[in-house]
Amino acid sequence: MGEQTGPAKRRLGVMGGTFDPIHHGHLVAASEVAARFHLDEVVFVPTGQPWQKSHREVSPAEDRYLMTVIATASNPQFSVSRIDIDRGGPTYTTDTLRELAALNDDSDLFFITGADALSQILTWRDTEELFSLAHFIGVTRPGHILANPGLPEGGVSLVEVPALAISSSDCRARVAQGDPVWYLVPDGVVRYINKRKLYRH
Ligand code: ATP
Ligand code: MG
Repeated sequence: MGEQTGPAKRRLGVMGGTFDPIHHGHLVAASEVAARFHLDEVVFVPTGQPWQKSHREVSPAEDRYLMTVIATASNPQFSVSRIDIDRGGPTYTTDTLRELAALNDDSDLFFITGADALSQILTWRDTEELFSLAHFIGVTRPGHILANPGLPEGGVSLVEVPALAISSSDCRARVAQGDPVWYLVPDGVVRYINKRKLYRH
């Protein structure tokens, strides 16, 4: 992310998430940021599997990875990376960005995250390194207002995406209750959830 002039760098968006399941909120956010920031590509990075059971059981990494592939396959600007899944254990954004920066030294990185997640990130210890690795873009969604005003100068942008009150937790709850998730997630993801009987307790 230097200020030197030289050949224009590729602009690579990075969308991290549990993607359990990926839904149209994620896809609209990535598409909107790609357009506004003239990104060449957005890479979706499903998180690794937490070692210990936290407050809920996360679906197997391979299922989350495949749903992400299914959802993004038709968009030539979108790709999926296995780096966090293959590293194993819980995901730390610093590791993700360090690894992606090393793999893409021709690119400037733009880390796309929900404003809710962004206000958490700002409380972490290694924010200085984080902001040196990527420009951070917080997308706002309904019900999440960016509370933390301590944004580092120049390191963070906020983008409003068309309001999509969709969350993975709501999708999981709907499947568990037998309610439809058609049109909340891509068709192929609905079919994958049914095929693998995900979220059915
Ligand atoms: P959960 O309900 O389990 O927390 P989620 O819907 O927030 O899941 P994640 O995989 O945790 O999905 O989200 C990945 C990233 O996408 C996060 O930065 C999150 O803030 C953002 N995000 C999630 N839903 C939306 C949405 N509807 N619009 C914009 N951004 C979203
Ligand atoms: Mg979330």
